[in-house]
Amino acid sequence: MKRPKTTNRYCPSCKKKTPQKVKEPSKGRPSSMKRGSKVRMKLRGLWRGIGNKGKYSRMKNQAKNKRKTTKKTNLMYTCTVCGKSKYQKKGKRTSKMVIE
Ligand SMILES: [Zn+2]
Repeated sequence: MKRPKTTNRYCPSCKKKTPQKVKEPSKGRPSSMKRGSKVRMKLRGLWRGIGNKGKYSRMKNQAKNKRKTTKKTNLMYTCTVCGKSKYQKKGKRTSKMVIE
């Protein structure tokens, strides 16, 4: 999906429609020490030994992770008049977003 670099949008601080720059914020990498992550479970000594280990007992299904091909895009709009920026969360579902 192609998007223009600037759009006219409502700015809540200017209280009118202003030209705003569109930017896709960079996706940060998720922390490996997240609650319930495999790295954390290994460090704590879980996920080892005998018996039922809950969700780590199951075989890893790799096809399950690649089921969805599109994602909702996060876009950031920056007002050119006042300089304030705002997120538009949960945009349209696309496989690829190109800002030109
Ligand atoms: Zn503004």
